[in-house]
Amino acid sequence: MIEILNPTELARARESGALVADILQSLKSSSTVGTNLLDIDRWAQAMIVEAGAQSCYVDYAPSFGRGPFGHYICTAVNDAVLHGLPHDYALADGDLLTLDLAVLTNGIAADSAISFVVGDSKPPESLALIDATERALAAGIAAAGPGARIGDLSHAIGSVLSAAGYPINVEFGGHGIGSTMHQDPHVSNTGRPGRGYRLRPGLLLALEPWVMVDTAELITDADGWTLRSATGSRTAHSEHTIAITDDGAEILTLPTRV
Ligand code: MG
Ligand code: MG
Repeated sequence: MIEILNPTELARARESGALVADILQSLKSSSTVGTNLLDIDRWAQAMIVEAGAQSCYVDYAPSFGRGPFGHYICTAVNDAVLHGLPHDYALADGDLLTLDLAVLTNGIAADSAISFVVGDSKPPESLALIDATERALAAGIAAAGPGARIGDLSHAIGSVLSAAGYPINVEFGGHGIGSTMHQDPHVSNTGRPGRGYRLRPGLLLALEPWVMVDTAELITDADGWTLRSATGSRTAHSEHTIAITDDGAEILTLPTRV
């Protein structure tokens, strides 16, 4: 199902987007050497509850997971990249952490993910990975607007990732979003321009380039949720929710607080 939001629903999507972005920035600031992933999960829960929003994750039980998820945020460290299940782990200097969060405010969802390095270390390989996903996300957003096709966005994202030298996995990518977290259309992280669904004002999309250094193959962790690089290599992931407007695209998941 593809949803086209009316102005009232779009206002709710903006609320959800701002909340997701502000929670992610707060958690990034709080994630230092020694921080436990379970603390990050508890802080996320507290901020969602305080805002009167609902978690998209806690009851989430898709066919590929050992559901329900039972937590409020995805925390993926180093070789973990998607669906990272929070667990008892204290962050170390140089860890590459991805936080992925989706909430509903008044029935409309927003979804965003950020990757960053914990502590004072600046591992070049990790920073290059993060930079590639952020630039790919920006390219995808720049390609979005009324009349553009999904393949235009996929091509823009994939071109950046390929130019940076990373293999691209096509099992998981971006998606439509609205009254539920995951909707059609699927937005692959590689594709051919001029193909696919034609974008219309009021459509919400979550674009989410993610990569692993040297492989496109994922393995599932023993926890039944966390997806890791098959080679154990580092990974990164960047995601924004955008709304297609009359003349372009509006990013809904930008932080509102400094
Ligand atoms: Mg997400
Ligand atoms: Mg998503």
